[in-house]
Amino acid sequence: MRFLVILVVFILSFSYGMQLEKVDKDIYMVRGYDGLPSEKNRGFISNAYGIFVKDGWVVIDSLSTPELAREFISLLKKEKNVPIKYLIVTHYHLDHWYGASEFKKEGAYVIAHKNLKKFYESGQAMEALENFKRRFKNLFKNVKLTPPDFTVRDEITISTGDKSFKVISMTPAHTNTDIVVYMPDRKFIFVGDLVFYKRIPFVGDSNASSKGWLKVLKDLEKMDIDKIFAGHNYPLDKKAIDFTYQYISFLRTQIAKMKDEGLFYDEIKKKLQDIEYKKFPMFKEFHNQNIYKIYNELDFEF
Ligand SMILES: [Zn+2]
Repeated sequence: MRFLVILVVFILSFSYGMQLEKVDKDIYMVRGYDGLPSEKNRGFISNAYGIFVKDGWVVIDSLSTPELAREFISLLKKEKNVPIKYLIVTHYHLDHWYGASEFKKEGAYVIAHKNLKKFYESGQAMEALENFKRRFKNLFKNVKLTPPDFTVRDEITISTGDKSFKVISMTPAHTNTDIVVYMPDRKFIFVGDLVFYKRIPFVGDSNASSKGWLKVLKDLEKMDIDKIFAGHNYPLDKKAIDFTYQYISFLRTQIAKMKDEGLFYDEIKKKLQDIEYKKFPMFKEFHNQNIYKIYNELDFEF
């Protein structure tokens, strides 16, 4: 019997379940697992947030699939059975956007950066989805791309229920579709994938800009912020902004220096393997792509 209990606990702890956690007054999150999408983790690799606004929910990010989104919605409804009024998508990556169709079904108004709408309309979003469907077999088979109902170019304010949110464009950085959601009365900010702590950021997107990202981090640093809610960490404070800044500027400085010394890409890559950052999650998955992207980006800067 005792053995059975231990076995069940052991299996559950590896089953990539979803739990709704209250992380502050009226703020709820589900915490995704570290890693790339797989059948095993069901694509549950990112966080999503629900903010209770008295007569409804405002949701930040949709998770990776309609199945995960549905699970998240039912957890929110179990907590407070009120409608989902808004879904705000922090950027176009699959783990933040691909579950959006389920929120639309709930009657939510979808908000994203204007470049996300462009990406959708250009057909590139569909091309990317087809690629992911091939690469990950069944994982994304039910994904329906959902364009935003309203787009943000610079900044908008949403007042709903008992709360108000500023949705601010902060791009190009992690992608060319990054927005943040700021709650002025609480000094809370939802940053998508712009801020990481003790985890390697992904700079490898074809629309990423490491230079733009550093500028965005400086802008965030100047804001009055008490708590940061990010796409892949538990709630953070401002020192996470510095962690992210240090990693990106370290890569930029090192790569620029070695290029000046006449080193080739392969040599640069090799010299950047045995570094302090290798102990952090996602180093193996992202670091080399980051080097490649920044190496190429620097060609156009100097
Ligand atoms: Zn992302």
